Amino acid sequence: MLGAIEAGGTKIVCAAGPVPGQIHARETFRTAAPTETFQQIQAFFGPYAESGQLEALGLAAFGPVGIAPGAPGYGQVQKTPKPGWTGVDWLDGLAPLACPVALDTDVNAAALGEQALGAGQGCQTLAYVTVGTGIGAGVIHQGRAPSGTGHYEMGHIYPPRSLGDVFEGLCPYHGDCLEGLASGPAIAARWGTDLSSLLADHPAHALEAAYLAQLAVTITLTHMPERIVFGGGVMKTPGLIDRVRAETRRLLGGYVSQGPASGDLGGYIVPPGLGEDSGITGALILASRA
Ligand code: ZN
Repeated sequence: MLGAIEAGGTKIVCAAGPVPGQIHARETFRTAAPTETFQQIQAFFGPYAESGQLEALGLAAFGPVGIAPGAPGYGQVQKTPKPGWTGVDWLDGLAPLACPVALDTDVNAAALGEQALGAGQGCQTLAYVTVGTGIGAGVIHQGRAPSGTGHYEMGHIYPPRSLGDVFEGLCPYHGDCLEGLASGPAIAARWGTDLSSLLADHPAHALEAAYLAQLAVTITLTHMPERIVFGGGVMKTPGLIDRVRAETRRLLGGYVSQGPASGDLGGYIVPPGLGEDSGITGALILASRA
């Protein structure tokens, strides 16, 4: 049996299944302090481990986290505003389960899941963007997520400000980076509610799409993927993906004249094919490679 953990900013999903795409058991709990979280993980996987069934674990972890095997800090949570999590070592915490562990970021895992079994099937190069508690993006080239000295942090780019937008931004490190301007908490701070609760002609929709399109354009120009999957809670807002497509097309200005990033972008910027399961599916794929 393969084990998968998707550790996000607000919730943690544990799942077990024989192969990626098949989940036989799962449990979801709120992201708590590390000690409590590891107890919950142990409670879920302990019976599999004790009966010798747990072959490997795949972890899709919130960033920033060390993802380069063998490098200093591998498996360790880096500086984070999440209380108690800075410096936590995932591999130490999972060691009692006594099985191989493979880990990557939540967005890289989600990209992996979508590429293998979701909306990115058949794509050699795929990007996955999540817009929720935070904003992040993972890119897959040839079935793997490339990285530099660490994983990419595309949610923290500084987009040009939309005209008249004076919101200071919420990112504790940058203020008005993309995440600071357009994450779910930023929307709530701007408008006092979530995007889905605002009427379709409310300016919040166009503003959100304008910022998210900046990321779509950046990903297009730096990676030229075959497709970009836009997931996360904010993207469930009706009509938002259409607005992001239209604004991305406007910003690209016809510069990309061939391939999937040309035309109306209908098959280029797409919703997840796996619904809520992109990340946990990717974590199962990581486990299968551990
Ligand atoms: Zn930031």
